[in-house]
Parts: sequence; structure tokens; C-alpha cells
Amino acid sequence: MIVVNSIEELKIATANLKGSIGFVPTMGALHEGHLSLIKRARVECDTVIVSIFVNPTQFLEGEDLDKYPRKDEADKQICKLAKVDILFMPTIDMIYNRDELRVEAPAIRGFILEGSRRAGHFNGVLQIVMKLFNIISFNRPKEFKAYFGKKDAQQLALIEQMVRDYFLNVKIIPCDIVRDSDGLALSSRNVYLSKEERVKALSISRSLKRASKLIMQNILDKETIVKEMRGVMSEIEIEYIALVDREFREIESVEIKNSIILVASRVGGVRLIDNIWI
Ligand code: AMP
Repeated sequence: MIVVNSIEELKIATANLKGSIGFVPTMGALHEGHLSLIKRARVECDTVIVSIFVNPTQFLEGEDLDKYPRKDEADKQICKLAKVDILFMPTIDMIYNRDELRVEAPAIRGFILEGSRRAGHFNGVLQIVMKLFNIISFNRPKEFKAYFGKKDAQQLALIEQMVRDYFLNVKIIPCDIVRDSDGLALSSRNVYLSKEERVKALSISRSLKRASKLIMQNILDKETIVKEMRGVMSEIEIEYIALVDREFREIESVEIKNSIILVASRVGGVRLIDNIWI
């Protein structure tokens, strides 16, 4: 594995590659969720490139940018063991210029749910993903795939839309959510949870399980599902429970194979999101 810290070095490292590139963008503090994306890229692509970049533009004022977990050395080891070919770890100065052109999230889909709680968050996400796609595919690989987790479902939908709307030459590969054995969706932010908070946080995945049980009993209406889920999560602060189709339009009733149920909550000071694809 080579570790590359600048865009110029990255261009050199990708200059003579043959075959496909599988790209996994991350903010580091790698866990099994990230690893599942890397493993899939390893199986499906000739060259695997992982980026680690804690992107300042997707954090809002007062969010956890400064205390976001950073584990560069451990991350390097994890990538090496996972047989990553190139680990790209740029600095902020290399990526951003002053007064630069901006990619903007769409006015509706980009500003509902996560976008309404974290206004501007997706502008920052799309900005960095666009930049990374251009940097990584600079030498025009034969095939270019990028791997994203369904855990960040709205992010995934918006990146897919950016690829469509801007005619980008990249194939987006959605990857399933990886959970701890107790059901909690893995997240770099889980390290902020105290023991007690972690126990409470388990009600999030339990509520999604409850929803899928109801759906198996053919109970599909939003009102009943949301009410039941609220009951399961009675001990935590719920920011929203939403039912959307795969295009992220809000729906009143589950459509099998075309729906996502999303939860955002706060446990202690920690904001956690999770979802289930129906
Ligand atoms: P992050 O480092 O949080 O920006 O995440 C990098 C990528 O890993 C994103 O595509 C996430 O959706 C994905 N990811 C994070 N947690 C999980 C998880 N528990 N299961 C699957 N993918 C995940």
C-alpha cells in the first residue's frame, strides 16, 4: 500500500494503472462499516483507493469538527491489512481554495430530513465528493466505481443524483449497513456514547426491527409504524422518523422494495442516524 498526501502524488500513483478503480471515501476512524465497503471494492476492482479526509465544509457551526475522532495510524494499519492499494490523506489547504465555486445540493431533496437539521451539510458533502471523484479519476481509469454506505441514505441518494445531473463518469455502489452484534449501526461517532447511552441507543435499531415486523404483517401505513417506533424509542430524543421512497419523496404508506424508513435521534449529546430499506 502507498500512502499519498498530495494531489500531485496521487496523480503520479494513478498514472499507469490498468483496469478498474474502486474508490472508498471516508472521514477515517475506520470501523467494520468502512471495512465492508473496502472489502467489496477489493473483490470487484483492480485497484482500491481509500481517502481519509475530515471535510470541514460538511460540519456546521457548533458541530463536532474539532473533536471528530482521528486515528490516522490505526487507519493506515487497517487499510494495509485490507489490501488497499492507495491511501489518500490530503490536507485541507490542498483541497480548498478561497472564494471557490460551489456545488449545491438540490433545493428540496437536499434540505429535508438531514438537510433541514443540518442546513448546508449536503452542500459540503457534494463539494468534497465532486472534488475527490475528479482527483481520483484524473487519469481516466477504464472503469471507476465509488462505494457508499446505505447508513447515510440521503447522502447516497444525493450523490447518485449529482452523478446523474452532472453526467459524471462513475458508478455508485450502495453497500449494506453494518451493525454491531447488539444491533447498533456502526458509526465513528459511537465512541462518544457512555455505557448507559449506548444501551439506550439500541432502541433505534429495535424500533426499525419493530417496523419491519409490522410490515411483514402487512401493516404498511406510516401513522401506525411511526407510533410503534416512537413507543420503542420512548427513552431517547427523536429528531425525526421518516418514511420515503427510494427517490426520497415522503410517502404515507410503505411500498415494498421501494421504501426507506429513517430515524435521527440524540442520545446524550450524540446524534445518531439509522435506517432500514424495505
Ligand atoms: P464516514 O467516514 O462516516 O464519512 O463514512 C464513510 C462511508 O462509510 C460512507 O459511505 C458511509 O455511509 C459508510 N458507512 C459508515 N458507517 C457504515 C455502516 N455502519 N455500514 C455501512 N457503511 C457505513
